[in-house]
Amino acid sequence: MSFLDRVARDWLLTELFAGMAITFRYMLKPKATINYPFEKCLLSPRFRGEHALRRYPNGEERCIACKLCEAICPAQAITIEAEPREDGSRRTRRYDIDMTKCIYCGFCQESCPVDAIVEGPNFEYATETRAELMYDKAKLLSNGERWEPELAARIAADAPYR
Ligand code: SF4
Ligand code: SF4
Repeated sequence: MSFLDRVARDWLLTELFAGMAITFRYMLKPKATINYPFEKCLLSPRFRGEHALRRYPNGEERCIACKLCEAICPAQAITIEAEPREDGSRRTRRYDIDMTKCIYCGFCQESCPVDAIVEGPNFEYATETRAELMYDKAKLLSNGERWEPELAARIAADAPYR
């Protein structure tokens, strides 16, 4: 660029006006961002968030302690101990997930024959300590109770594609 061109550009503020033109053009376009956490994106029914253990409508635990989820977990994040009940059914005594190990692959959910362990829509569960991310059975069941309407709706929405 010649010296005269540079001087003319500096004095006429052409770059400033070009920048302002871009700014005003984008002011009139729809926003590409949202005002999180007050606004949230739509989530796919297949979104893999925080884990939950579900119950049947009568309150019975779905999990039958088959341990398929424990066996398939590539991160070895799941620990299950099982015991037979008085009625002969098999249930878990202990069901732990180390959420610091989990890689959210969804294999536990895929392997479960009774839709007991699922990954729900909740992604807002950051904690201040590692210990809070060691989920036990009570925590997982309480997640299931809290999110059951959403979990059931997600499974129903995805069912035609499976
Ligand atoms: S999502 Fe994957 S890594 Fe996490 S607990 Fe389930 S199987 Fe394991
Ligand atoms: S959550 Fe499902 S796959 Fe895992 S032990 Fe229970 S029934 Fe089996």
